[in-house]
Amino acid sequence: MATLRSGHPINVFATSRRSAHTDGYAADIWKVDGASVTRQQRPGSPAYALALKLYDAGAYQLGSPWVFTGTGSSFTDAVHDDHLHLQKRQVPGRGGAGETDAVALTAPAN
Ligand SMILES: [Zn+2]
Repeated sequence: MATLRSGHPINVFATSRRSAHTDGYAADIWKVDGASVTRQQRPGSPAYALALKLYDAGAYQLGSPWVFTGTGSSFTDAVHDDHLHLQKRQVPGRGGAGETDAVALTAPAN
């Protein structure tokens, strides 16, 4: 795990929206089982399994190379193609449709 409060840009990449990282509500995971997320793009990989587990456990927001369907918030975009972005809960005083670290929301796969 890396980047809780330090090392992450204040705003979501290429936007004027404040990142959940800035307030300590998000963490990025770049490696799972010793291998980069970039090298685990296939569904069923350890990174995929962890992402799905976090999503199913009720992550407030999960960015990753994949989009999961269900009741949670899951997104993918070019910035989140190489890591898992986990936000456990809503940032106090924020929330709603505008609260996302997604750079460009991608509709769930059919
Ligand atoms: Zn992140």
